[in-house]
Amino acid sequence: MLRDARSCRYGSHRVLAPKGALPQAAQRLDATPVARENEILCDVEMLNIDSASFAQLRASCSDDPKRIGDAILATVRERGKQQNPVTGSGGMFVGSVREIGASLAGTIALTAGDRIASLVSLTLTPLRLDDVLDVDLATGRVGVRGTAILFESGAWAKLPRDVDERVALAVLDVAGAPAQVQRLTLPGGCVVVVGADGKSGILVCARAKQAAGESGRVVGVVPNARSAGAQLLLEAQLVDALVEADARDALTLRDRVREVAPSGADLVVNCVNVAGTEQGSILCAKDGGSVYFFSMATSFTAAALGAEGLGADVTMIVGSGYAPHHADIALDTLRENPAIFAHYNATYGRTS
Ligand code: NAP
Repeated sequence: MLRDARSCRYGSHRVLAPKGALPQAAQRLDATPVARENEILCDVEMLNIDSASFAQLRASCSDDPKRIGDAILATVRERGKQQNPVTGSGGMFVGSVREIGASLAGTIALTAGDRIASLVSLTLTPLRLDDVLDVDLATGRVGVRGTAILFESGAWAKLPRDVDERVALAVLDVAGAPAQVQRLTLPGGCVVVVGADGKSGILVCARAKQAAGESGRVVGVVPNARSAGAQLLLEAQLVDALVEADARDALTLRDRVREVAPSGADLVVNCVNVAGTEQGSILCAKDGGSVYFFSMATSFTAAALGAEGLGADVTMIVGSGYAPHHADIALDTLRENPAIFAHYNATYGRTS
């Protein structure tokens, strides 16, 4: 049962408009930096803007870091949260705990000063930004000075000591994908990962390969087979086959995938950051197979009506960012695979 709206565990007490909405669906949140009894107040240092949102911001701001920073500031000032008005998606933050509300203090393994990453979307996190300090075009990482509120229902992870914070930020942003794929992959099954050489795609390939086992097959789809991520997939044997294709070209994608997986996939995982890849992904699945849309550029309409028009008997799964133990599963994927760890350090780490 919900408590009094003043201290709702889902944060409804922070919703300014519209009436009755929960924070994710809200237009505006109250981001006042004071921890109520069941809230955690954090000082925020870095945002990881989710990839679909960041790709849209880069395009609309002509790759100008200043304009991207200004656009983020404007959204947060207007809405009290970072929710890209075009893609509707957010990201997550890294910072340190400033204050824990009285009813939570002592009940959670967290104390003031702990460094954490949020494991809930910025689209539902009350956020106040004083300044945007820098915008890293290559990774979607944004240095900021500000505060955020975590609700009682909101997940967080203490930053691990053995992983560079910037790498942890990148990995934890997409932690839902490898955990979901681990449990969706059938032993001996065929998994096709579209957008296989990105942040989530590499972790997904590693978990799919492990779960599918010796008799399984993992196919990675990338737009450019010469990318560092694509080379890693081959060299670390995270895929059995690599297909170079633009996932927006549905029929070409299907044909190239069928060359290496003639019966189609038991599971297709969509990890791209661009729109228009729903039908191509659906066509890679076999009848009775599943398509897991992790991408935030996915359109429900395009997927639902597209599958209908194709006469495709597939189960389509909305890519929730949460699964039990997802943070540990994602970070362990690095720890268990030195080649992946090295790639993430080089791509997202302090020296990148
Ligand atoms: P990322 O690192 O930017 O990776 C995106 C991948 O898509 C890259 O491998 C990219 O290849 C590939 N790609 C781009 N255009 C393509 C095309 N036309 N055809 C085939 N592949 C293409 O992104 P990420 O951080 O892994 O995120 C992946 C998606 O998940 C994004 O849409 C993001 O917003 C979403 N997301 C969802 C959740 C959730 O909770 N469901 C959480 C976080 C992120 P190149 O790099 O070679 O261009």
